[in-house]
Amino acid sequence: MTLAVTGATGPFGRHAVETLLRLGIPAGQIIAIGRDPGKLDDLRTLGVTVRFGDYNDPASLRAAFAGVDRLLFVSGSEVGQRIRQHQAVVDAAQEAGVGLVVYTSLPKADTSTMMLAEEHQATERALIASGIPYAFLRNGWYLENYTRQLPAMLEHGLFGAAGPGQISAASRGDLAEAAAVVLAGEGHENQVYELGGPSFTLAELAAEISQLSGRDVGYTDLSEDGYVKVLVEAGVPAPAAAVYADSDRAAADGALYVEGDDLERLLGRPATPRSEVLRAALAALA
Ligand code: NDP
Repeated sequence: MTLAVTGATGPFGRHAVETLLRLGIPAGQIIAIGRDPGKLDDLRTLGVTVRFGDYNDPASLRAAFAGVDRLLFVSGSEVGQRIRQHQAVVDAAQEAGVGLVVYTSLPKADTSTMMLAEEHQATERALIASGIPYAFLRNGWYLENYTRQLPAMLEHGLFGAAGPGQISAASRGDLAEAAAVVLAGEGHENQVYELGGPSFTLAELAAEISQLSGRDVGYTDLSEDGYVKVLVEAGVPAPAAAVYADSDRAAADGALYVEGDDLERLLGRPATPRSEVLRAALAALA
């Protein structure tokens, strides 16, 4: 059986490919797809097949999916372009006769009011309409969304607009491992998984970072507009700032809170503890 992974040049897709190898899937049964295949040379050396595939180039996707039995479709990163791009992926998968598409979505994608949900909703609908068996991985926020802000946090504190919203973030590695488990496993056809780790508020996250770092990291809760302003002043482009602030606005109402234990069940172990992820990220800064 041939298993393919799109977005294999990004950290999520790469981790999923590496997990497939760790699970014992022969390299010759794995296809890593990216729009810059040169970034995948090390996987090629291990025997993984590397193919070019650009979400903007339907012919490249048809060629990339030839002979693929199951596809891990990692959502693209070009927000605003993804309805068209993702439809092209679904169409090419359908033409290629792919037997299962595992798609990385967003928590409660079908009902979420988050701006980012629109493209995931459209993709989930396109997959359902295609008739291809699917598995939706509704991934919660990566803990890395926060750890990458640690240098700024340690200096200025944490800013946000999520108020009392519980955020069920998990490490990107755990979410990518779960994706590989679903791709390689059985019985996942037409299943929807809501994936997240133990939840926290941003104030609790700041307190934990203070405790682990020995620095005083406060949390400042702002209005959505106020948070946009702070992000833009910090150099974030206005469209991205609007998306981040909208995500916090929705998180305040529970959009990033994930119920259940789907992640633990897929991993067969608890999610990597948040403290471990934070400690490692702080150590990497030292
Ligand atoms: P990255 O943004 O690091 O990687 C995105 C991947 O998508 C890269 O491999 C990129 O290729 C590929 N890609 C983007 N546009 C195209 C295109 N037109 N054609 C083909 N490939 C394309 O994200 P991660 O690996 O960390 O996460 C995977 C996905 O998860 C993201 O793309 C995004 O949809 C989503 N995400 C989820 C987050 C969460 O907290 N749950 C946070 C951030 C993203 P290239 O290497 O060539 O750029």
